Amino acid sequence: MDELKPCPFCGGDAEVIEGGHDSLKVRCAFCHIGTPAMTEEDPIEMWNSREDVTVPKQAENR
Ligand SMILES: [Zn+2]
Repeated sequence: MDELKPCPFCGGDAEVIEGGHDSLKVRCAFCHIGTPAMTEEDPIEMWNSREDVTVPKQAENR
């Protein structure tokens, strides 16, 4: 498995979790930002490239 970079926001450890329907996603274990769940693309690659890592809705409403 590819190595996961630390979270771009808090520097915490990232983890690969199931996103349902055979999909996977990567998210930060601390602040819970992460990639969308995906089945055909590699969420680890996306996470490491920082392309589409977003803050969850709850975290935006401050
Ligand atoms: Zn984080």
